[in-house]
Amino acid sequence: MNVLTIEGVWKHFHGHSVLRGIDLEVRPHEVVSLIGASGSGKSTLLRCVNLLETVDDGAIHLDGEELTDPRVNVDQVRRRLGIVFQAFNLFPHMTVLDNITLAPRQVHGVARAEAEEQAHGLLARFGLAAKSKAYPDQLSGGQQQRVAIIRAMATQPRLMLLDEVTSALDPELVVEVLGIIRELKESGMTMVLTTHEMGFCRDISDVVCFLDGGVLLEKGPPEQLFSAPEHPRTREFLRSVV
Ligand code: ADP
Ligand code: MG
Repeated sequence: MNVLTIEGVWKHFHGHSVLRGIDLEVRPHEVVSLIGASGSGKSTLLRCVNLLETVDDGAIHLDGEELTDPRVNVDQVRRRLGIVFQAFNLFPHMTVLDNITLAPRQVHGVARAEAEEQAHGLLARFGLAAKSKAYPDQLSGGQQQRVAIIRAMATQPRLMLLDEVTSALDPELVVEVLGIIRELKESGMTMVLTTHEMGFCRDISDVVCFLDGGVLLEKGPPEQLFSAPEHPRTREFLRSVV
């Protein structure tokens, strides 16, 4: 079964169509990337999946459950998603360890000792063992974003949504964040991500989707989409970013 199924999703803002009949399937362990110019609807699509936006038409299913059913339990859905955005959204008044263990403890009812053991394991795995007691403002942007990704992983989500997680970083810090996403893929995590890092996108994605003005114009394996794009708009976009 698909982890995520998006069928005929439309979204309008003030009479302007921002998503125009999007269809997309994400299978277990797949990494699906959304690329396209600024304003093409990538973030809005992710926001529809995590229920920050309601869709105007169409349906979204997570593990077969219809998220677009108005009776859906939003909190329960979000518990199955790991979400990381461009802006570092760590809690500034909490240590790294507390940031990571908050949701497992408070939302998922994991005991403190167990949550902390797991958090220390994740921090060690991603080279941040020495930072568990640090506060966010004592970390570099790249370290903060790695902690945000670890925090999202700590609840063992069914699906991770990553929206431009490297866009706010200096180039030398981008590499370390891309490294952690690569590790996530190797661990079998299912992900939908948006990125401007085309080399990384090509390297990590199983499927790349090109959005243009709210239309999913073309999708395919990266070799195909980057080397032999079918649509002139895709070719034009790729020329503009590389
Ligand atoms: P992308 O992530 O691809 O840059 P977005 O999904 O952020 O694109 O935006 C797609 C379009 O929707 C843009 O024209 C943007 O201005 C518009 N949009 C996004 N969110 C809102 C909102 N809350 N209200 C009005 N317009 C919005
Ligand atoms: Mg965006």
